[in-house]
Amino acid sequence: MPPATCESLIGLDGKALATALTGQGVAEGQARMRANQLWNWIYVRGAKDFAAMGNLAKDFRKDMGEAFTLARPEIISEQISTDGTRKWLLRTGPGIEFETVYIPEKDRGTLCVSSQVGCTLNCSFCHTGTQKLVRNLTPAEILGQVMLAKDALEDWPSTGTNRKVTNVVMMGMGEPLYNFDNVKAALTILTDGDGLALSKRRVTLSTAGVVPMIPRAGSEIGSGLAISLHAVRDELRDVLVPINKKYPIKDLLEACRTYPGASNARRITFEYVMLKEVNDTAAEARELVRILSGIPAKINLIPFNAWPGAPYECSSWTKIEKFAEIVNRAGYASPVRTPRGRDIMAACGQLKSESVKERASTRLAAEKLADMQSAQLARMP
Ligand code: SAH
Repeated sequence: MPPATCESLIGLDGKALATALTGQGVAEGQARMRANQLWNWIYVRGAKDFAAMGNLAKDFRKDMGEAFTLARPEIISEQISTDGTRKWLLRTGPGIEFETVYIPEKDRGTLCVSSQVGCTLNCSFCHTGTQKLVRNLTPAEILGQVMLAKDALEDWPSTGTNRKVTNVVMMGMGEPLYNFDNVKAALTILTDGDGLALSKRRVTLSTAGVVPMIPRAGSEIGSGLAISLHAVRDELRDVLVPINKKYPIKDLLEACRTYPGASNARRITFEYVMLKEVNDTAAEARELVRILSGIPAKINLIPFNAWPGAPYECSSWTKIEKFAEIVNRAGYASPVRTPRGRDIMAACGQLKSESVKERASTRLAAEKLADMQSAQLARMP
């Protein structure tokens, strides 16, 4: 067993790997080649220990094993929904707990990745928003979520056909643009053709609207962009997504208009949560279409996912259909996102970690919620 202080190599790029090797006494001239070999084992083949690296000298493997680990986050629990969605609660240190969700579909598998433990944004309809920010996740912890999911799904090597994780969305806990450097480092390795090899088109970063960072996300990360819009007027958006007070709708949409790389082939996704009697009128649907005109956009209507104590309800199915029809007529195809994994609290906005033990009151609230949700699902076609 390596000593507990060992550093995990996961999250290091090629250059940092080489530096770590020279730090261990590997000669400068050798470090680059060795780093390339390690890189391939780590990110392409998904090796979990150095002993498995057959093409490397035995002594080298032993030295590596003594100095470093390839540890993934520790799995505290795994839950599997009746619809096949899987949620992992992970831990990387005392109180550092976060969630990752895998959503299998017919033609793809999407991994929803967290960028922070907790969040600073306090969006009033979001469960994560009720959890204070504990800290930013490191590149190792962000990428570790992908590595761990690929382990669990037996999805190695990363260059294989029939991949299980085909898409990654930065839509888990936290605001990725408030953890820009670490998210960028992780996504750079994720989209490296010689690494985890996911195309940038299959990676989407979702933001509540950290306007000054949007141009940098486009030019330095270059993934797809999603915006948590949720309201068409500032007075309402100020309440739902309080960061709007700092960066109002007009500024947000201006940043989208000039987002590097946006085109009709690479549209920006606008997420709009359907909240009963809050933001779900036909007039708001028309206004949504109007304010997005001129932006290469997709619209994603998200039926509100309940959580214990949430101050909102999901719009009625009739209201959602009516809203969707207006959006549809304006040329936006299939705009409603099917809720996935609601029974295990894995759906959009339900993620939250809790280091304290479950109390009876929490359990009762969860049971009540499950009843509410089955009633809600029964009303949907
Ligand atoms: N902070 C980023 C990343 C989180 S993505 C962002 O805000 O975009 C999570 C998505 O789920 C966001 O669009 C968020 O607004 C939405 N969401 C949050 N709570 C929700 C809920 N209870 N029901 C449905 N969607 C929710």
